[in-house]
Order: sequence, then C-alpha cells, then structure tokens
Amino acid sequence: MKVGFVSLGCSKNLVDTEMMIGLFKKNNFEIVNNPKEAEIIVINTCGFIESAKEEAINTILEMAEYKKENCKYLIVTGCLVERYKEDLIKSLPEVDLFVKFSEYNSLWEQIENVINHNNQKDEKLDFLNRVISTGTNYAYIRIAEGCNNFCTFCAIPYIRGRFTSRKIEDILEEAKMLAKKGYKELIIIAQDTTKYGTDIYGKPRLAELLHEISKIDGIEWIRFLYAYPETITDELIEEVKNNDKICKYFDIPMQHISDRILKKMNRKSTGESIRKLITKLREKIPNVVIRSTLMVGFPGETEEDFEELYEFVKWAKLDKLGCFTYSKEEGTAAFNMENQVHPMTKKKRYNKIMALQQKISEENMKKHIGKTLKVLVEEPGVGRTYMDVPDIDGVIYIEGNAKQNTFVNCKVTGFKEYDLIGKVIVEA
Ligand code: SF4
Repeated sequence: MKVGFVSLGCSKNLVDTEMMIGLFKKNNFEIVNNPKEAEIIVINTCGFIESAKEEAINTILEMAEYKKENCKYLIVTGCLVERYKEDLIKSLPEVDLFVKFSEYNSLWEQIENVINHNNQKDEKLDFLNRVISTGTNYAYIRIAEGCNNFCTFCAIPYIRGRFTSRKIEDILEEAKMLAKKGYKELIIIAQDTTKYGTDIYGKPRLAELLHEISKIDGIEWIRFLYAYPETITDELIEEVKNNDKICKYFDIPMQHISDRILKKMNRKSTGESIRKLITKLREKIPNVVIRSTLMVGFPGETEEDFEELYEFVKWAKLDKLGCFTYSKEEGTAAFNMENQVHPMTKKKRYNKIMALQQKISEENMKKHIGKTLKVLVEEPGVGRTYMDVPDIDGVIYIEGNAKQNTFVNCKVTGFKEYDLIGKVIVEA
C-alpha cells in the first residue's frame, strides 16, 4: 500500500514522523509525497498552542477529503491526540485511528489492527531506521524527550511527560549512521537540550556529547537548539568556543526579562542572569550568534513590564529574535491566572517588539558585508552559514560555482531582509 505523511509542529515532532516513515518502509509500504496517491495518510499533529491545534484540525479535515478518492485509512498521531483523544474520536469519525504519543510503544500493532495487515512482528519506532525527511545536508538528532520545567504557560510537560535523556552511546550510534549516509550537519534537539544527562547520569553532559559527536568523520557542523538559559554551563561555553565543528550559535528561549513576569512564568532565570549570560557569551566567543524567543502578553504583564522588555531588546541587539503572543492553554497554571491581557494589547506589543527587532536585524546584517563565511550549499545558488538554522533563520544567495552538498567560502556582498547575498571565493 502507498502511505503519505503530514508532519506538523516542531522539529522534535518531525523526528517521530521520520521514525514512523521508517516503520512503514521497513514493512514494505511505499512512501508517497502526493496525498492523492496515498491509500493511507498519517498526520502527526502538534497541540502545543491554539494556532497549532487549529492547523491540525484543518489539516485532518483537508486530508479527510482524500477519502473520497484513493485514501482508505486516515491515521492521526501526536500531541493533539495526547491532549484530546476522546473528544477527537467523537468529533472526527472520518479518522480511522488516533494514537497518543504515550501509546507509541503499541503504534504498529494498532496500525496493523486497523489496516488489517498482520506480519506478527513486534515493531517499534526506531531512531536508527528512520527516514530523514530534511534533504541530504542536515538531520536532527533528538537527544531527550519531555520536560520537567513546568513553565506556567506551557502544556509540553503534560503532553510529552517527564524529561528523559537517551544514552550517549545510542546517540553516537545514530550520529555515526547519519555521517555514513552523508549528512554533514547535525542539529541536536530536545525540549530542554542543556539539561541533557542530568536524569540518567546525575549531571549535565551536553558538552561531552557534542565533543564525542565532533570526533565522527564526515560531520562538519553541529549545532544545538533550545538551550535553557540557567543550564548553559561554563564547560558548554568552552566546548562551543574551542570546537571548530560546533557552530557558534546559541538558541536560548528567554521568554521575558521582567523578574516579576519570569517568576509568574515559573522560569528559573532573572533579568540580571539573562543579561549576564549574553555579556559572557559575547566576551568569550567572538562572532557568537544569539537567538531567542520572547513572549508578550503573559497574564499580569503591565506596561512597565513590557517597557522593560522593549528596552532589553534595544540593549541586547540579538542576532535573531522570535516573538509570540501568550496563548491561553487548558491544563496549564497560567490558564486561570488573573489579569489576562487583552488580545489587542498583546498584538500591539508584539508589533512593537518586531518592528524594533527589524531595525536591529538590519544593522546586524550590514555588519556582515565584506566578511568571508563558510557556506553549506543546499541547492543551486542557495546555502546557509553557521548563523542560519534551517527553516528558522534566513539563507545566503550565492553567485558563482557552488556544488550542492559541499562547503564553499563566500564573501558577503549584501543582504535582503533576513537573507544574505554572497559570492563564492573558493571551495572550502
Ligand atoms: S522549558 Fe518551559 S517552555 Fe520549554 S518545553 Fe519545558 S515547560 Fe515548555
């Protein structure tokens, strides 16, 4: 049978989708990209915030239309199902099977029951057999699952469970397999990457893990995302600084800068600790890129809190910044907090931060003109520097001879919004 997949949400969810594709492939199903051809459509959903839930429901309804044509079975998995399985069963009879994240151990058994296919094998989702869906240059490696931080606005700990690290040896085996397949860049992810190892080894071991991965031949770039500010250790900073294979890039979701709001969010940072961290990273690592995400409109956020955040953005001049408006999520502590901020105020604050960051970004981009940077060529005429995370940041448009899947050195000649423009100097 032919199977098509839709993966929604974050890169951590994408790794699950890739493992599901691997499972079907191993059982001789044909994977197709066009939903019109698919006899089975699997939708791996996100249910993190309101807009993600809406997107998931719309996608399910859109895919259900294909049941009028070729599609015989619609299977829905992931975070939305984890949160609302019973309601979904009642309201979406078009779907043949819903599988929660916490039921993935019996995923294949459940799928076989529905599609009436039985090979009597005890199949499980498997990192080593997953089918990489992100092209030929880079792949994600998920090093842990779940989160114990219980930020008061976030549903993840209730959906994905407690923080659980994978063993170093298993991750290295996966990294070696990816290197053998020709992947040059590995992107290390988890809900809380810098906590890696604390649950199974009693101490953070991300620095050591990155060091070990960097010894693998063929891997030329390693980066890690979602670093919680308070668990960025000096050891990790030193490793990033001294290891040529690790991109000098820190993705640190800071959320806010006002101590009052950070406390209400149940974040462990303070405004001072965040400012100190930024200063330290810039002092220790020349040309370090810092990316963050901020949230505006959290319950109780006053004009003063917002002004403090605005001034912080002005001061920090972060290389990259994403901003979200607070989304009220059932089951989280912030859901019932008093002084919810009016949606129009949230939007106004969001626009103000993003307009400021746009100017900062322009200034930041100008500084790169004339620099020579190493570029990973992703497709003819387009590549990425160490400053760009796929699907999140920009790209560099390149003039000159640059073979796909290779590294070249490019001189930056200009920029357009969040993208750079450059000329190939020499193959790196
Ligand atoms: S650190 Fe906070 S925001 Fe991030 S996944 Fe954990 S609870 Fe959610």
